[in-house]
Parts: sequence; C-alpha cells; structure tokens
Amino acid sequence: MQEDLFKRLVSHCKEYGFIYPSSEVYDGLNGVYDYGPYGVELKNNIKEYWWRAMVQMHENITGIDSAIFMHPLIWKASGHVDAFNDPLIDNKDSKKRFRADVLIENEIDKMMGKADKEVEKAAKRFGDSFDEAMFRSTNPRVLEYTQKAEAVEKRLANAMKANDMADLKAIIEELGIADPDSGSRNWTEVRQFNLMFSTQMSNIAGEEGKLYLRPETAQGIFVNFLNVQKTTRQKIPFGIAQIGKAFRNEIVARQFIFRMREFEQMEMQFFVRPGTEMEWYNTWKERRMAWHRAVTPEEKLKFKDHDNLAHYANAAVDIQFDFPFGFKELEGIHSRTDFDLSSHSELSGKKMQFFDPELNEHYTPFVVETSVGCDRMFLAMLSNALVEETVPDAQGEDSSRTVLRLAPALAPVKCAVLPLLKNKEELVGKAREIFDKLKFHFLCQYDEKDAVGRRYRRQDAIGTPYCITIDFETLENDTVTIRERDSMKQERIPVGDVARIVSENTDMRLLLEQIA
Ligand code: ATP
Repeated sequence: MQEDLFKRLVSHCKEYGFIYPSSEVYDGLNGVYDYGPYGVELKNNIKEYWWRAMVQMHENITGIDSAIFMHPLIWKASGHVDAFNDPLIDNKDSKKRFRADVLIENEIDKMMGKADKEVEKAAKRFGDSFDEAMFRSTNPRVLEYTQKAEAVEKRLANAMKANDMADLKAIIEELGIADPDSGSRNWTEVRQFNLMFSTQMSNIAGEEGKLYLRPETAQGIFVNFLNVQKTTRQKIPFGIAQIGKAFRNEIVARQFIFRMREFEQMEMQFFVRPGTEMEWYNTWKERRMAWHRAVTPEEKLKFKDHDNLAHYANAAVDIQFDFPFGFKELEGIHSRTDFDLSSHSELSGKKMQFFDPELNEHYTPFVVETSVGCDRMFLAMLSNALVEETVPDAQGEDSSRTVLRLAPALAPVKCAVLPLLKNKEELVGKAREIFDKLKFHFLCQYDEKDAVGRRYRRQDAIGTPYCITIDFETLENDTVTIRERDSMKQERIPVGDVARIVSENTDMRLLLEQIA
C-alpha cells in the first residue's frame, strides 16, 4: 500500500511537472533530479516558509548566501577531509556497491520485523485480553529476535565509532547477509569512502589546487561568523541562516529525492554562551517541531535521538517523518559545541571569538544547529498531500480524483481562472481581464481547454486551492463561482472579492502564526 503510494508519487511528480530525472534524454544521471514548473514553485514556497520562520520571525537571526566553493583548508578544519566517510562494500558477483552499515541496519530491521509479526499473531489470537508489553517481555521467540537485534545494533555502533571496517565485514559474514538482488555472499573487504566531490582550480596545479563542492552549507556560516557579527552588531545569542546547494557522493542514491548527490539544505547556526547550549538545544528542538507541525499531522513526525554522536556534537536528535518507506530523518538538530569555530581559529590563525559585554570576557561561542533538507521536505509535503479519492462528478456519479492537499501557502498556483466556454469571446475576454488583475497578487493560471470539470481535476492534481469560473452571469452582474479544492464547495461571489479571499487564505502569515 505504502509502496504503492511511493510509486504513484514518483509518477505524479513526472506527469504533472514537479520533478524530472536529470539528463533524461541521456537516460538520466543517478541521484540527480530537476525540478519542473510546479516543482520549482513548491520548492520556493518551502524555502520561503523556512526563511521567514527563521529570519523574519527572529530579530536575532540574519541570513547569508555563501559560495559553494571555499578554501580547501575549511574542509580539513571541519573534519570532512578525514572523517566524512561511509563504509563501502562491493559484491564481487553482482558488481553492485553497498553501504556496509545500511546492509546491517536492514538486517536489524528484519529481526525487529520478525518480533513484530509474532506480536501481531499473538494479538489476533488473544483478542481484547492481549497485553502487548507483557508478551514482548516474556515470549521467548520475541525476546530472542529483539535481543539479537539490539546486540547487533550495539556492535554496529561501536564498529562505526572505532572505524573498525574489519568488524563490519565480520558482522556481515556472521549474519550471512546476501546481496538483496542477486543473493550472492561473495563480498570484498569493507573500506572507507569519502563522500566529498572534488574538482580542480585552474591556476594551481596538483593537490594544492584541489577544491571540494561543499557537502554542507554550515561551514559557509562558521567562516563568516565574525563578518556577520560585526556588520549586524548582534549580541550572543544570535543566529545565521542559509539556504543552498550541497553535494555528497552518496554510495547508494535511491528512494527518489530522499537521497540525492546534489541537494539543497536549509541550515541555521545559533551561537550561544558556553554552558547554555542544552537550554538552546531544547528550545530549537521545540521550535523546529512546531514549524513541521504547522504543515504535517502530528502522528507523522517524531524525534529520534542519535545513538552515535558525531565527533563535533554533545547532543543530537533527528526529526523523523513517516515517509512512504517508513520513519526516516527529515531534519537534524545538533549541539555542535565550539568545535567548528575553534578548529577554524586554530587552522586559520584568526581568533573567532565574541566579546560578551555582560560578562566582560572573550569566549568562543557554542553552536546549536538546525539542518533540514529542502528536497526531503518537498518529498514529505507530497507524501502528506497526495490523495486519491472518490467524489461525485457533475452528474452526481462516483468518479475518482487525484488531489494534492498542500497547505495553501505552499501550493504552486494559488488560483485558476476558467472561462466556462472557450469559443465565447465575451467570456474569454472577461476571464482574461480578471486574470490580468489577479496576477499582481499571486501566481494564477488561465485555462480554457476542455470541460470545466476536467480543468478542476487538473488544478486539483497540482494542488491549486481555488478555481474561479467566469460564466454568462459574470457578464451581467460581475460575480464568479469560486471553488475550494478540498471541500469542492462552490460559491457565487463578487469579482471584486476574489483577490482578497484568495490572498487571505493562502497567505504564509497563516503558517507563521501557527508556529508562534
Ligand atoms: P542521512 O543519515 O540520511 O545520510 P545525514 O545525517 O548525513 O543524513 P545531515 O548531515 O544531518 O544528514 O544533513 C542535514 C539534512 O540534509 C538531513 O536531515 C537531510 O534532510 C538533508 N540531506 C542530507 N543528505 C542528503 C541527501 N543525500 N539528499 C537529500 N537530502 C539530504
């Protein structure tokens, strides 16, 4: 069922101009996608929602737009040159490449799945009297599966922490993990693979001229910390926000735009007094969850603490979303300590500190980071919104419609203007006149092709919150029919009210007020 939704979602994106595979005429480029006419609008609206929630709603957060190319030493200081690796393993028979940790994680999921199945079976058997917690803690088979899964999980975490590639291989062998497609267990050794893309600067030869495409936007913020603090005269605590492209040479890029090799991040680094970081970490956890909840039902979101902290973090949590393929990371919130500013101070020789007038002392601020993938947010919004339902058609018969129930503020097109008939000059002229006025307020679409019912369906499929129809009555009394996407309710209103009604109900302000 969920798999089915995912397939439908991918084909809907292509069919309706949201997302195309990159370089499709050359059979595509793995892990890279292009956004089409409606996709770019939705993506821009997501970015605007984030930017306004950060920059407009917080006096102490300002934005920047730093370059993708940066001095190569930045990636040395940040730890990316030495530690931004994933463990890679090849299957010698199928010649397919995998992430060793993901193969093991999938095996853990399978074990947990078996335990869940036992619980499900027992629940059916015992009916209302079933005590799940009791069953989980006493049934020998369930205990065997869960204990084994937990042991493997722990061993995996330790091996990852210790960079013990040999143990990852040993786990794979001991569990008898096979290539999921070919079934072969003929594996190579596990080795570390650095995820940064590199290129060469034209005026410097050799290693010295080696540049990286940034794997995260955060470092552009850290190295501008002093610039921004000076020019904005912000006092601690304050934040710097940035939206931009990031590049990662993912070993396996799949699940559509969930894991891409070129993607976009929306990141905010919040600089705080040392010792107050946990307080701010908790504040930002709540604020970010509120931002998500304004556009996503509560049951589709949850926090997941990291079991394995990155070298720079003293606390980290993911906000997970219930994607069609299960709960997965949508956003990360990390308490990054003073790791980044201290490393850059050390390697660059420039002190990156703040003079706190209240304490009358210099210190290196601690940082709380919020980082959400724009493309993952896009996928989450579409997974929430895509609905197929049975509704009565104009004759009252059952018909199916595909509708994108996007938050109106995020919808690509806000209002469609439809003349009832395309071969009646007066109707077309009037509709054009109305369209030409409305386009000053928001993105509208003029459509005169096919019966009105089909035009409604086309707008439903791209998530347009309002359609207005111009008919003969419009010519007499300047009223139009306005139809709302979700309820499909139609109402006759004066033409002069359309801009106000649509603006009021599609305004980003509505979302921002919900978060506050
Ligand atoms: P994952 O564990 O899924 O690889 P990550 O923990 O490496 O993600 P971060 O480094 O915390 O991710 O990046 C912050 C955000 O950027 C993620 O929460 C995600 O939304 C987004 N992101 C990271 N990698 C990708 C990718 N390859 N494609 C699309 N979005 C990504």
